[in-house]
Amino acid sequence: MERDTFDPHRILKQIGLPHLVTAETLVDHFGAALGRTIQLDVITGLTRSGWCGLWVLGGDGIDYLFIDAGYARIPALKAQVAAHELGHIVAGHDQSATSEGNVISLLQQSFPHLPPAVIARAAAARSTYDQPAEQEAEAFATAVMSRAAAEARRASGATGRRAEGVLGHPLGGGRG
Ligand SMILES: [Zn+2]
Repeated sequence: MERDTFDPHRILKQIGLPHLVTAETLVDHFGAALGRTIQLDVITGLTRSGWCGLWVLGGDGIDYLFIDAGYARIPALKAQVAAHELGHIVAGHDQSATSEGNVISLLQQSFPHLPPAVIARAAAARSTYDQPAEQEAEAFATAVMSRAAAEARRASGATGRRAEGVLGHPLGGGRG
């Protein structure tokens, strides 16, 4: 299926960014802009399944966005993982079907109150995301973080520490 080329910069121009960029403000901002309810949760051990973040579309219409606790400890990384997952949502990626027993049991243990429909959706989650989808999500995250860094630089003048070096920290190859 052909579709328009995904252009993160064009989207950011349209939607803009929150004044202060954190995982939480990004989720609020894009949730409001897209008219979606996005719930952000931190989850321990997600990287053991090979992911730093996970987006699950719940049967209840809520987008669940999970971030590994290790990444969530560092605000800039947490924001970057959130931006990556939001990139999947913004780009309208499908969640293609494959079973991921690790993630399902992890979600059940970590969020016993999570609706079964959401757990089931996790089974249809992300491990089969094709490479172009991952590249689009990562391009979106990079665009968000570099724009945030540029605005932080502008706000603090040229003498500030190089925010770019911190915000642009690579994720170490973790999927999500
Ligand atoms: Zn991804």
